[in-house]
Amino acid sequence: MGVRLDLSRADGTQIPVRANLSGLTRASLAEALVRADIATPEKARMRAGQIWRWIHNNGATDFDAMTNIDKATRARLAETFDLARPEIAARQVSADGTRKWLIRFAPGVEAECVYIPDVGRAGALCVSSQVGCTLNCRFCHTGTQALVRNLTAAEIVAQVQIARDDLGEWPSDRADRRLSNIVFMGMGEPLYNLDQVAAAIDIVSDNEGLGISRRRITVSTAGVVPELKALGTRTQAMLAISLHATNDALRNELVPLNKHYPLAELMAGIRAYPGLSNARRVTFEYVMLKGVNDTPAEALALVRLLAGIPAKINLIPFNPWPGTAYECSDWATIEAFAAILNRAGYASPIRTPRGRDILAACGQLRTESLKVRASDRRKAAAADVA
Ligand code: SAH
Repeated sequence: MGVRLDLSRADGTQIPVRANLSGLTRASLAEALVRADIATPEKARMRAGQIWRWIHNNGATDFDAMTNIDKATRARLAETFDLARPEIAARQVSADGTRKWLIRFAPGVEAECVYIPDVGRAGALCVSSQVGCTLNCRFCHTGTQALVRNLTAAEIVAQVQIARDDLGEWPSDRADRRLSNIVFMGMGEPLYNLDQVAAAIDIVSDNEGLGISRRRITVSTAGVVPELKALGTRTQAMLAISLHATNDALRNELVPLNKHYPLAELMAGIRAYPGLSNARRVTFEYVMLKGVNDTPAEALALVRLLAGIPAKINLIPFNPWPGTAYECSDWATIEAFAAILNRAGYASPIRTPRGRDILAACGQLRTESLKVRASDRRKAAAADVA
């Protein structure tokens, strides 16, 4: 541990990549220190605690900032590990205050991350869990981009760190912070990357670090039913389900994953989600597509489908993107739909589109990253050297 191997060199030799400490949980950080001979097993917890606070409470990006750690140890840390942020390839700010960062994790591996003010307690950060996506939901821009790869825990945590840098919110324990909530609603399907997502949640929810409580972290899934229970037990995160249709025929079309896990299975999986209660409701996301899923009959079908589940319903006006065949439902149609849900006792806020002018709204995220086969990468590297 502590060293990752990058296998992409043209001549086939392996270059050790220094592990970024931001992606290690507290326990693995202590282990990594012992393994790298930087701390004895007896001292490892204390040392890990000091380093932890520098990284996750103070936002340190440089071991030299860690003034309560002796110089020799700092030098050993710097030789062995990395603390640098990934590169910000682009930054945009919307007229409504929404901020979007395009983050370059490695050459050709880019994902977007969006900060939305005045959502949740103070403001929510929408993070990506993958570059690209495998799901192909028909109305989603990210769905037009093939999966490049899963993000690592360090890369997920880096999105939070970059937002904190930009908002000027270090140390993390300040009372007036504007980044209070995290939603895994950026690019990718988090339940296809649960190990890294769970590690990232362990890290960002730690009280002596980024301090974002698990109750303020929401993981959204298109419905990977076999992973729901593990999500609940491993992360205690709030659950959101991208539903969008109330019958299998339509949902198969909109969210092709439904062919693997049809509605009856999905609803059973949700009912069994650990920790569900009136205080910890599931959020159902429902994108309003004109003439597709927006009739009063469908609102009533939604009410029947959710019977008995502690739920909130989030109606999302469809956000258009270049080349889409769908349109957003008329405002009056959305309001009529919401009124039916309200009468049935559901809070069903209509999600105000945020950051549409910078393509930062739900389902508008997409990057130019393409999956490059390892063999092609080696060829390109060889051509570069030649
Ligand atoms: N794959 C996960 C995480 C992505 S969340 C999931 O599907 O839940 C992104 C949310 O935005 C999902 O609810 C998605 O269905 C919704 N969405 C996608 N495209 C959209 C669009 N063009 N307009 C509005 N919402 C959209």
